[in-house]
Amino acid sequence: MSGLRPMHDHTHISPTAVTEPREHSHIVAPATPHLHGHQGHTRAMHRPAPSVAISVDGVCAGYFGRDVLDEVSFDVAQGEFVGVIGPNGSGKSTLLKVLAGLLPVQCGAVQLFGLPPGPQTQRMVGYVPQSEAINWSFPVTVTDVVLMGTYAKLGFLHRPHQRERDAAAHAIEQVGMSAFADTQIGQLSGGQQQRVFVARALVEQPRLLLLDEPIAGVDATTQHAIFTLLEDLQQHGTTIVVTTHDLSCVAEWFDRVLCLNHRVIAYGKPESVLTRETLSATFGSHVLFGAAVAT
Ligand code: ADP
Repeated sequence: MSGLRPMHDHTHISPTAVTEPREHSHIVAPATPHLHGHQGHTRAMHRPAPSVAISVDGVCAGYFGRDVLDEVSFDVAQGEFVGVIGPNGSGKSTLLKVLAGLLPVQCGAVQLFGLPPGPQTQRMVGYVPQSEAINWSFPVTVTDVVLMGTYAKLGFLHRPHQRERDAAAHAIEQVGMSAFADTQIGQLSGGQQQRVFVARALVEQPRLLLLDEPIAGVDATTQHAIFTLLEDLQQHGTTIVVTTHDLSCVAEWFDRVLCLNHRVIAYGKPESVLTRETLSATFGSHVLFGAAVAT
């Protein structure tokens, strides 16, 4: 990837550095989810530098007292495009929910542009959940869904004006879905549904875009179209975090890759994490090594 993207020097590794995004080029053993009471997790407050979009510092989070994320730490610089990879159940969606402010942390801290996730960051963050988490039988059209992206700024009680409608129509055009503007979302294919949610993100113009498995179940052409759109957003300054279990897209699109298996197994540039050693540590022995592997 080239063009307007910011330059990052991520080769320096220092667990104590607070002015540079942190990389975890080492590999640690995957953790199994565990129960604990979170006493004794008092940590020195991590202060992210202004150029840091996401700071995750020693975060534990999960459901019903059972941790899915175990002391997860990483930083994402503003304008970076980061992929989160890991096997099913490794906590990728959970991590995005934490970043979106939808799931509280049990220990550690998250900051988005220097603020904890919450009302202040809501307008800055666009979150596209997994396709199966969306009720596709909800009787709304493509235009309705994309217009919802303007509600974050307008507020739910304000009806969108012509300006918002024009912006929605433009975003729908950008993702090649103009012919489906009045179609109910339940009638769309998986790839078309993903395009609609990317359009919603386009119209929302978030500073940070979180997408959970945006290319799951879509064909190669649509995958490429979605990533091209995301790259375009990135080149306009948007920070993007995408989860995927598809390793084939990792080297081509992401600036950095977070290998997650409840813990951070590795975090770095694609070429440094796409190794047999790292992928085995992330996915266990079941990973199929293909062209994605660097060595
Ligand atoms: P991934 O996205 O990597 O597949 P998830 O974050 O969805 O992983 O899930 C991690 C673990 O958390 C899994 O064991 C899953 O069953 C559990 N989990 C996810 N969502 C919930 C929930 N709403 N309630 C209880 N457990 C959940």
